Amino acid sequence: MAVIAPRIRLAADGPEFSRIVFGLWRLAEWNLAPAARVALLEQALALGVTTVDQADIYGGYVSETLLGEALALAPGLRKRLQIVSKCGIKLVHPNRPQHRVKHYDTSGAHILASVETSLRAMHTDHLDLLLIHRPDPLMDADAVAEAFLQLQKDGKVLHFGVSNFTPAQFDLLSSRVPLVTNQVELSVLQPAALTDGSLDQAQRLRCAPMIWSALGGGQLFGDGDARVQRVRAELARVAALHAVSEAVIATAWVLQHPSRPLVLTGSGRIAAIAEAVSACAVTLAREDWFAILAASTGAEVA
Ligand code: NAP
Repeated sequence: MAVIAPRIRLAADGPEFSRIVFGLWRLAEWNLAPAARVALLEQALALGVTTVDQADIYGGYVSETLLGEALALAPGLRKRLQIVSKCGIKLVHPNRPQHRVKHYDTSGAHILASVETSLRAMHTDHLDLLLIHRPDPLMDADAVAEAFLQLQKDGKVLHFGVSNFTPAQFDLLSSRVPLVTNQVELSVLQPAALTDGSLDQAQRLRCAPMIWSALGGGQLFGDGDARVQRVRAELARVAALHAVSEAVIATAWVLQHPSRPLVLTGSGRIAAIAEAVSACAVTLAREDWFAILAASTGAEVA
């Protein structure tokens, strides 16, 4: 029986999202005509994947526009989706000729301007969630909070969070304004979030983390070095026990963390999104979960 992505509330006063989120970082690479983008979103919705992840900078500042074209073509889609976007990174890119140096900007003026651009690009009047993309050493927490509260008051953004923040950076900003998530990297190839305090904080605050590159950004399935091959062999062993693919096991391994992570998919193939959804129904035996961790770190736990 086909599995439908379960839904999850990110925090007590947070939004309800699908546990599997459609990541649109690579949307421009998929070279889809607008009608094909609508069709792909419809297929994801049919799997219960109602939440999409964007950022102002994705695709060299074009991914939001590509989604916006699809939403303009099928106006009924917007209200069936939750849209996450991000701001705070300024890339040196032909689409932003005024940028001389890659840098972070979490000034109130930039946050407000970036959201206006995102809303226009996506043909929508609000974002369900806005994240500060990367921690900015010059972040003034009061200025960010003021911009967030203005956006909320104007109905332009419903909820706020951060991405790639350390627990201390998260604490700083959440001392000024409520945050509902920290979007961080976690995979069988990048297990650092298990021990750097970010998932402990997420569990303590009951703020479900959003996980990016849960399949190592595709690295897991490339040629790979000896470590990748070792992890892959362990995933294959466990996958055979469950009669599913290695990608399903790698995703289930992330989903099993008690901080209740949401997983962002990065593929443009609906079959890969369906695999991520099916991982929601797989529970690994504790020994198998640890065997995969040991294959990743190269040693059993102490
Ligand atoms: P991922 O799911 O780890 O990697 C997806 C890549 O793996 C795609 O290029 C995909 O290619 C490839 N792949 C190869 N075999 C696959 C398989 N069996 N199943 C699925 N994919 C397979 O995720 P990601 O793209 O790195 O990141 C996911 C999302 O996270 C992004 O879209 C973005 O929304 C978000 N993100 C956030 C941050 C941040 O700093 N907050 C950073 C990076 C990403 P095919 O398309 O050919 O399947």
